[in-house]
Amino acid sequence: MEEVTGAQLIAEALKAQNIEYMFGIVGVPVIEVAMAAQAEGIHYVGMRNEQAACYAASAIGYLTGRPGACLVVSGPGLIHALGGMANANNNCWPVVVIGGSSDQNQETSGAFQEFPQVEACRLYSKFSARPSSLGAIPSVIEKAVRTSMYGRPGACYVDISGDMVNGKVERKDVRFVSCCPPPPVSMADHTAVMEAFAVLKAAKNPLVVIGKGAAYGRAEGPLRDLVDLGGLPFLPTPMGKGVLPDDHPNCVSAARSRALLQADVILLLGARLNWILHFGLPPRFNPHVKIIQVDLCAEEMGNNVRPAAALLGDINTIASQLLEEIRKDGWKYPSNTEWWTTLKEKMAANAKTTMALSLQPAEPMNYYTVFHHVSQLLPRDCIIVSEGANTMDIGRTMLLNALPRHRLDAGTFGTMGVGLGFAIAAAALQGAQGSGHRVVCVEGDSAFGFSGMEVETMCRYKLPVVIIVVNNNGIYSGVDPQTWSEMAEMGDLTTIAPPVTLLPEARYDEVMRAFGGQGYLVRTVEELRSALQASLSYWEGPSLLNILIDPASDRKQQEFPWLTRSNL
Ligand code: ADP
Ligand code: MG
Repeated sequence: MEEVTGAQLIAEALKAQNIEYMFGIVGVPVIEVAMAAQAEGIHYVGMRNEQAACYAASAIGYLTGRPGACLVVSGPGLIHALGGMANANNNCWPVVVIGGSSDQNQETSGAFQEFPQVEACRLYSKFSARPSSLGAIPSVIEKAVRTSMYGRPGACYVDISGDMVNGKVERKDVRFVSCCPPPPVSMADHTAVMEAFAVLKAAKNPLVVIGKGAAYGRAEGPLRDLVDLGGLPFLPTPMGKGVLPDDHPNCVSAARSRALLQADVILLLGARLNWILHFGLPPRFNPHVKIIQVDLCAEEMGNNVRPAAALLGDINTIASQLLEEIRKDGWKYPSNTEWWTTLKEKMAANAKTTMALSLQPAEPMNYYTVFHHVSQLLPRDCIIVSEGANTMDIGRTMLLNALPRHRLDAGTFGTMGVGLGFAIAAAALQGAQGSGHRVVCVEGDSAFGFSGMEVETMCRYKLPVVIIVVNNNGIYSGVDPQTWSEMAEMGDLTTIAPPVTLLPEARYDEVMRAFGGQGYLVRTVEELRSALQASLSYWEGPSLLNILIDPASDRKQQEFPWLTRSNL
């Protein structure tokens, strides 16, 4: 008679489902779960806040197609993780959260950290349950892992009460379930494919929009053929960047507004017509634009704009279906159209404006100067993690991605604080896979603060992440040290300091040094270049560049205000 504990069963079940990474914070009642996971050969990464742990676990899901696990304690531990679950669900990324909870015989009695965890997770997940017995643990874990990946991916929650963690059961009384296979793949209906191809062929101003669903779906192969054979201009969404290289000749990112506004047919591949794509509506889109919508989620079809063709299924497969029609027909969108001329002229004009801003000799530097030099030094295959307001927006246009799933950012939910968790996950994977792509985390100073203590995690595991803090002393913008001290003399700062301000010239580089990482304070182009070069050649642990920029630096003039949509 062999007896096993609940903790062992959880660890074995996760291992059986090919879960390789667990991020979390231990405490009563889940310490044994983390230890059992390590005994099974699962990598356990101890973090400093459950929110960041959950961000990290979900990044594993996005990067590998199989969820990472996030392990948290009861009550507040689980509540901290909700932010990560909401973010994963919004991004359609798989993650499995395992939460310890109070002993069942103390429930409703005011137990330590008692909280209705299964109910609380419902709003942030696709599936939330507690196994009814120890013997049911493997099947509930399998269901959580499967549900997180199948259909539209998202977050799943499994609750384990403290008494179950250490409770024992005989092996023969456990229902073991083997590893669930990757999600089944479906093709689009043939008639819909023919309709879509007819719409595409009739386009005067076609545009392919590549979303992070295409990245997640690993559709880079057929999409490259589709763009090349079809001669089509394409525009990646923020995390669609890199599915095809940003420097591909058909990439029209530098004419984004113009491309969206004047396209008459848009092939929308794994991207929602939400705020990121301005709802697909005027004033940012042509009111008569025909959308060919490709998505695996039927409920997504027709959100905000009724598609001219709805192709339901896996992007990879559907891209191949469309390619087959293009090949059979021999069609190619001509390269000498007015549309291409318009796009190319706009791209050249925008590149000129950006270059002029980049080369402004001013000190302190502006955003454009910083990103100009950073982009020159970053390796082509690096993984770029980014968050912040201007830092993320300007950085996205200037830092190029050459490979799929090599950009992670604030995403659909616009979450600040994701960067360090994402970077830790990406770096942990690099170590395991030995491919050694450099992880570079480009943060605004405000964004960095949300999860800043995770630099200790990076130092502890010697993760070679390069953090670049673009420091403008505040949220959106701050003030210079002189203005700050004048304000302090005028009176109580809590009544007069602008709410957007953070401590001017805060020494984030010293935070990194406090834990043994490399820290650099940067004010000039020369300091920037030498600190970045030094960081990129250092692999023994993390580095942080604290780049003090002009607190008044802003984005270049934009054609449209942010977040507009017509009320029609
Ligand atoms: P972005 O932020 O790049 O605009 P979104 O997250 O809004 O992208 O949209 C991604 C879409 O991709 C979601 O609607 C999701 O259902 C879909 N999706 C995810 N994986 C696949 C896949 N393999 N095939 C088709 N659609 C997918
Ligand atoms: Mg800032």
